[in-house]
Amino acid sequence: MIPANAPEFAGARDGLVWNKIKPDRSPDAIVRVKDEHDVVEAVNFARENGLKVVTKGGGHTWCGLAARHGGITIDLSALNESRIDEASRTAVIQPVISNRELARRLGEHGLAFPIGHCPTVKAGGYLLNGGMSWNMGHWGPACLSVEAVELVTADGTLVKASATEHEDLFWAARGCGPGMFAVATRFHLKCYPLPMAIASSTYYFSLNDLRAAVDGVVAIGRTMPDNVELSIFLIQAPAELAEACKDRNGKVCMVAAVAFGMTREESEAALAPLEKGEIMKKALARRFNEPSSFDHLAIASGATWPENHRNLCENQCSKAKPSDMLMALREKFVEAPSPKSVIVFCQSTGPRNLLEPHPEVALSMDATSYGGLWTIWEKEEDDAANRKWHDEVVGIMKPFTNQHYIGETDIVQDPARVQESYSVEKWRRLEELRAKYDPQHVFFGFLGGTSKA
Ligand SMILES: Cc1cc2nc3c(=O)[nH]c(=O)nc-3n(C[C@H](O)[C@H](O)[C@H](O)COP(=O)(O)OP(=O)(O)OC[C@H]3O[C@@H](n4cnc5c(N)ncnc54)[C@H](O)[C@@H]3O)c2cc1C
Repeated sequence: MIPANAPEFAGARDGLVWNKIKPDRSPDAIVRVKDEHDVVEAVNFARENGLKVVTKGGGHTWCGLAARHGGITIDLSALNESRIDEASRTAVIQPVISNRELARRLGEHGLAFPIGHCPTVKAGGYLLNGGMSWNMGHWGPACLSVEAVELVTADGTLVKASATEHEDLFWAARGCGPGMFAVATRFHLKCYPLPMAIASSTYYFSLNDLRAAVDGVVAIGRTMPDNVELSIFLIQAPAELAEACKDRNGKVCMVAAVAFGMTREESEAALAPLEKGEIMKKALARRFNEPSSFDHLAIASGATWPENHRNLCENQCSKAKPSDMLMALREKFVEAPSPKSVIVFCQSTGPRNLLEPHPEVALSMDATSYGGLWTIWEKEEDDAANRKWHDEVVGIMKPFTNQHYIGETDIVQDPARVQESYSVEKWRRLEELRAKYDPQHVFFGFLGGTSKA
C-alpha cells in the first residue's frame, strides 16, 4: 500500500492516468496487487475501514477515472497473464494486457479476438465498457465474446459470473464500465480463427467534396460484407496532399476500409465495391487492397492516437445521416488549433446496423455509426485554445447524438452522459444490481452518475 504521505505517492498517482492531463482528484492510498487474493484482502481492508474503492486497470480512461476523491485505488497493473487453448478456441486472461499484446499472443495460436483499436489500451476496462472492436460489424462488440468473468465483490468474495452462475453480475460486467461494483480479475474469452489475409484500402477526398464522398461511401458500405470495417475520418492530410488541401488548412477526409478475410481473394473481393464506386473518381489519392495484419493496424492506430499527449474526447452513437453531421462539423474542423486532432466515425457495412441492441449485456448501444472527436495536443500552454475548440465541436455534434459510449464519453465534464449511455431499463437494472451486490457502497461507482464518487 502506498499512502498519500509516502515519497513515491505523487509518481504512483500520476501513473494512474495515461492522459497527460491529470485529474484534480487523488486517492488516500494506492494498493498494488499481485493476484486476486491481494484484491480480496484490499477490498476487505477498505470495507472494514470505511474507505471507498476504485480499480485501476491500464489507466487508459482518458478522463482519469482510476483516481477519485479519496479512498483506495486498487492497481491491477501486475495482472497480465493469459492461458490460451487452441483446441477449444478460448483464452483466460488477466485484465491488464494491451490490445496489441493480446492480438500477438492469440496470433501465435492462429486465433483472434475483437480487440480495441488503440494498441496500448488494456483489456479489463475495455471489456467492462463493452468493447468497440476491430471487425465489430462481424464479431460484434467485444463483450459478446466474453464467456465468463471472475470478480471480487464488495463482501470480499471471489466469484465466477457466467450465463449459468451469477448471471446478473455477468450481465452487468459486459457494459457497466467505470461503474462496475466489483473488481474483475479474469476474463474468459471466446476466440476466432485468425483472419489470415487482413487487407486495407485508403482513399482521400477534398473537404470540398465531403458530402458527395460521404454519401457515396456510406451507400457502398451497405453492399460490402460485414467483415469490412469502414471508417470516415476528418484528419490532417499527409504531406504529399498538403498542397491539394491548402485551401482547407491542410485538412482532408480519409476513408479507410479494412477487410478481415481469411484469403487474399476474399479480402480483395470484399474491398472491390469501394474501389469500383463512381465516387472514387473524385479521390485525391488512393491505395487499394494493401496487405495488413493486427500488428499493422496497431501501428497505424498508434500513430493517430500517440502516447504522451494531452487528450479530450467525446463520442456518440448515431442514426443520423453521416454526411449531414460531417458537413455540420467541416468548417469548425478546419479551424482546429492542433493538427493532431481527429474526427472519426465507423459506419455500418452489410445489412445489419453496426450496433444493435443486445438484451443479454448491459452495453446499451443501437446505432448505424459510432465514433467521435479526439482533441489531441502536446503543450499545456495550448490547453485553453484546444478546450474551447473541443467544446464547440461537441456542441455541433450534440443534435446528431442518440447515445454515448460509457468507455469514452466525458462523464467528468457532463455527468448526465452516464445515464445517456444506457437505455432507461438497463440503467434501472444496473442500479438495482449495485444495491444488491454493494449495499454498503464500498465501490465508488460512476463518477458523476446517480451513485456519486
Ligand atoms: C486512445 C484511446 C483509444 C481508445 N479506443 C477504444 C476502442 O477502440 N474501443 C473501445 O471500446 N474503447 C476504446 N478506448 C476506451 C477504453 O476502452 C477505456 O479507456 C478503457 O477503460 C481502458 O481500460 P483500462 O483498463 O485502461 O481503464 P482504467 O482507466 O484503468 O479504468 C477505468 C475505470 O474502469 C473500471 N475498471 C477498470 N478495470 C477494472 C477491473 N478489472 N475491474 C473493475 N473495474 C475496472 C474502474 O472503475 C476504472 O476507474 C480508447 C481509449 C483511448 C485512450
